[in-house]
Amino acid sequence: MPRAALADFLRGIGVPDKEIRMRVAQLWHWIYVRGAREFAEMTNVARALHARLDAVATLARPEIVREQVSNDGTRKWVLRMPSKGPHDRGAEVECVYIPERDRGTLCVSSQVGCTLNCSFCHTGTQKLVRNLEAWEIVAQVVVARDRLGDYPGRTPPEGAFVPDDGGRFVSNIVFMGMGEPLYNYENVRDAIGVLTDPEGLQLSKRRVTVSTSGVVPEIHRLGEETGAALAISLHATNDPLRDVLVPINKKYPIAELLKACRDYPGASNARRITFEYVMLKGVNDSLAEARALVKLLRGVHAKINLIPFNPWPGTIYECSDWAQIEQFSEVIFDAGYASPIRTPRGRDILAACGQLKSDTEKMRARARLMLEEQLALGAD
Ligand code: SAH
Ligand code: SF4
Repeated sequence: MPRAALADFLRGIGVPDKEIRMRVAQLWHWIYVRGAREFAEMTNVARALHARLDAVATLARPEIVREQVSNDGTRKWVLRMPSKGPHDRGAEVECVYIPERDRGTLCVSSQVGCTLNCSFCHTGTQKLVRNLEAWEIVAQVVVARDRLGDYPGRTPPEGAFVPDDGGRFVSNIVFMGMGEPLYNYENVRDAIGVLTDPEGLQLSKRRVTVSTSGVVPEIHRLGEETGAALAISLHATNDPLRDVLVPINKKYPIAELLKACRDYPGASNARRITFEYVMLKGVNDSLAEARALVKLLRGVHAKINLIPFNPWPGTIYECSDWAQIEQFSEVIFDAGYASPIRTPRGRDILAACGQLKSDTEKMRARARLMLEEQLALGAD
């Protein structure tokens, strides 16, 4: 719950007005700083209040259905959210932890599946089951910290990965898991508010990045209301190709998308917008397209992130050859942009970009055929 909602909630269960501020601060500290799993742990909170809280609330985490560790240290969790009724088995979502020397990045999901179907993305083959609620987004971070033993003064649970270089294990959050965050705007906004609360999880707003396929009407208020960093899944430099790769482009074409980027609140040379570009062999990886990309981004505070395509069962795409990716990157670099190539992480456990897909809904059998048709159309 956002802080204000927690205050209302406590009022609703009879906590007197003059205590509200103190109780909110106490609960917030126990939950987000200390990682409390039960109200009874909260020793400075009156016993009578423990009982009242226990009657109507819980700190239980979503169930961990699976935990996998890649040979590069990447971790993937499949989480099952509590059932919402007799016919709901509980939605499953994935989140991925990527340790690096100077940071630990948690890639979180914002929806179960995705209503958009970018043709190169595994998640797009899963029918949307539903939006995640704000708490279900925050819970992904809390579970990761549980499993990483990332709470001061707590003994890490058995089997947890504990880095030995000190510091926070989860320092960065990227909304790059399952789903389109800007199609679940309010919940994503509220979750970011909780994640970046200075007395709670304490993540820096600059280290929270929301990636969108280009839901133009929501971009401005994302910047205004959350202060999060923005990433755009661009992937093509002209509308006909982007219409095929990222079909939401038919609704919000490249020119409109870039206008929203130019106007993004808080973007500056120091706070650049990331443009993601997936490298698809023979589809969008020519050097002419690299030059077109540079031209397109003129006047935008941009950095470019080249993502080697991660294959998944049934896809019709292939990753560009490494030499081609390097040449593409060089063109961009020569034009004055940093163009890091994102090292694929966790491929062996299907944890890499675009590989996430829970079993809630099986892949549609006709997907491949449809994509081939679309591509043929796009090529005309
Ligand atoms: N829906 C949002 C965020 C989730 S996808 C979006 O589309 O931006 C996160 C990133 O992974 C996006 O840039 C997406 O285009 C990219 N991606 C999807 N499938 C991929 C794949 N198979 N290989 C590499 N990157 C992929
Ligand atoms: Fe959805 Fe993003 Fe995948 Fe497109 S790339 S289908 S918007 S998750």
